[in-house]
Amino acid sequence: MALIVQKYGGTSVGSVERIQHVADKVIAARKQGHDVVVVVSAMSGETNRLVALAKSITDPPNPREYDVLLSTGEQVTISLLSIALISKGYPARSYTGGQVHILTDDVHTKARILDIDDKKMHDDLKEGRVVVVAGFQGVDEKGNITTLGRGGSDTTAVALAAALKADECQIYTDVDGVYTTDPRIVPHARRLNTVSFEEMLEMASLGSKVLQIRSVEFASKYNVPLRVLSSFEDGPGTLIAPEDKTMEKALISGIAFNRDEAKLTILGVPDKPGIAYHILGPIADANIEVDMIVQNVGAENATTDFTFTVHRNDYQKSLDILGKVKTDVGAREVKGDDNITKISIVGVGMRSHAGIASKMFKALAEEGINIQMISTSEIKVSVVVDEKYLELGVRVLHSTFELEKEPIAA
Ligand code: ADP
Ligand code: ASP
Ligand code: MG
Repeated sequence: MALIVQKYGGTSVGSVERIQHVADKVIAARKQGHDVVVVVSAMSGETNRLVALAKSITDPPNPREYDVLLSTGEQVTISLLSIALISKGYPARSYTGGQVHILTDDVHTKARILDIDDKKMHDDLKEGRVVVVAGFQGVDEKGNITTLGRGGSDTTAVALAAALKADECQIYTDVDGVYTTDPRIVPHARRLNTVSFEEMLEMASLGSKVLQIRSVEFASKYNVPLRVLSSFEDGPGTLIAPEDKTMEKALISGIAFNRDEAKLTILGVPDKPGIAYHILGPIADANIEVDMIVQNVGAENATTDFTFTVHRNDYQKSLDILGKVKTDVGAREVKGDDNITKISIVGVGMRSHAGIASKMFKALAEEGINIQMISTSEIKVSVVVDEKYLELGVRVLHSTFELEKEPIAA
């Protein structure tokens, strides 16, 4: 007998029929003798609907009230699932994030979990009940409702698994595991049997939305065995676990992409100490996160160009700030482009192999895809390209690195 935390995403609870199906899956785990804590998302489309409602009044809406609104989607599904379980003869109890004391900081719309009180859940499990918890939400110290950022139910599930010392955290979704890349872009992408925490962290942070990045951080920190599975078909899914020798020995494990970025360039900046600070200081002060940064080598007239990327939501605000910076630092021009996309190859195998980046650049060049920016780390190479090349770029790289084939065992 094990303690399992299961999480079902929006599509998996998208209708009453699907919720009944989820109830049957939970019951199957109970019949095997397991204790089950279930985390659910809002019904698919519901969080987007709520976002649109608030933004139709004002944008951005008041953050506290926005969280009160967004958290309602999950309250619907916890109760419906519990009703379904009870009607099938299995005692269950639903809880909002606040009711099980998922304590977070007070950063509305992207709060971080600080602590969870697991007593009530353990008591219910002891009484033979299924515990059903609303994903994506918590409360701050003052009792205000907070939400954990889009995709946050994954993080709720892993945090609960860590707090309860669960034997496994199972993330049920609309694909049957983590693939070499988004199967919606490359239909012959391959399901991975295992991925290391480190690679999954990179993939999630570089745009693979199958798991929220914080859920992977949590799982890695607390060593929670994490498995991504399909709600609709049986199968082994993908296990995300610490790196070990038996894992697949591919050079590249996956390709991630992110369409949510925008690029800004400030041209003809005087090339002198402190310039990066003068440009990026005001951006940081406005709470805008910067991703890639490139500064060119200064030209003979002692000026240089400076380029960086931000989230597309922060694009207009960043342009406005740079407009002001331009005057302050005496730059020539500010340019922006929000039709870009970032494509990244990820793999721990890169550590011990040279030439991966040049193979990537060659493949893109052969398709006439211009690379606008490059950034690398030990286990990834990212490029920024025109958005229109997203699908072509991902497909070309997928075949260049032969990701559709099983890697040869080491
Ligand atoms: P849920 O609503 O269950 O949380 P999400 O839409 O958040 O589901 O995540 C599942 C989706 O992630 C898939 O439908 C798929 O399109 C996308 N995805 C992106 N990259 C990958 C990948 N490498 N492997 C699997 N799915 C991926
Ligand atoms: N319902 C939230 C969202 O759509 C949280 C989640 O599904 O994980 O982002
Ligand atoms: Mg999700």
